[in-house]
Formats: sequence, structure tokens, C-alpha cells
Amino acid sequence: MGITWLDYYCDDSPTKGHLLVGATRIDGGTVYKCSACHRVKWMPDNIEECIKLGNFMKIYGQDGGYQRILDKHPAARKLMAKIQDIYYLRKALTPEQFPIAVAAVIMNKEYPFDVEVKEDEVP
Ligand SMILES: [Zn+2]
Repeated sequence: MGITWLDYYCDDSPTKGHLLVGATRIDGGTVYKCSACHRVKWMPDNIEECIKLGNFMKIYGQDGGYQRILDKHPAARKLMAKIQDIYYLRKALTPEQFPIAVAAVIMNKEYPFDVEVKEDEVP
């Protein structure tokens, strides 16, 4: 499954929009997490990359454009893919099955040891 763009509508939010909070910085961007539905999106911090993302989305659609900008940020793409896998596993599995499935995701994809989290860049 490709990484999908987090759209505007949030089922779990009282405002029906996501309540996004910057969670961590990685690979020239920030991972934002919705405090209502706990879904995430990565956005580039650099204005040129933001413009590139907007242009890609115009050409390839939201998900296609998002995947193309993530292709240029492999560490961010890897982290987003894992977070998305774990999100869908949580929806699909029982609480008893879930930890084992998460362990499999982590072991197969070497998370988080190959991910460079740049917390020290936060101003
Ligand atoms: Zn949300």
C-alpha cells in the first residue's frame, strides 16, 4: 500500500478538522500528529520543498504528489510507511495480536535504528 496524504476531514475531532501538532523532525521536515485520530503527516520545512510538494500534487494528485516528495526524503518515507502500517494493523487486529504484528513491522524494517531523528535542529 502506498503512503496516503492525510486529508482535511477528521472523524474523531470535535471540529471535524485534524488537530495537528508537530511531533518530531526528520529528513528536512516535520511529522505532525493529530491529537484526535492519532494519524500523521510529514511536511517539508523548507519553502522550496513545500512548493515542490504543491506542484507535484497538482500534477499527480494528493497521494501521488505526496509519494513523489517522500521519494526525495527516504528516511521520512520509511518512517511514514512504518507509522501507516502500524496504524492499519491497530485497526485490523485484536489487542492480543497487535504487539506481535508491530514487532514484525519493526524487525523487518529496522525501525527506528536506521532513522535519523533531528531533534537538535528544533530552534
Ligand atoms: Zn484527526
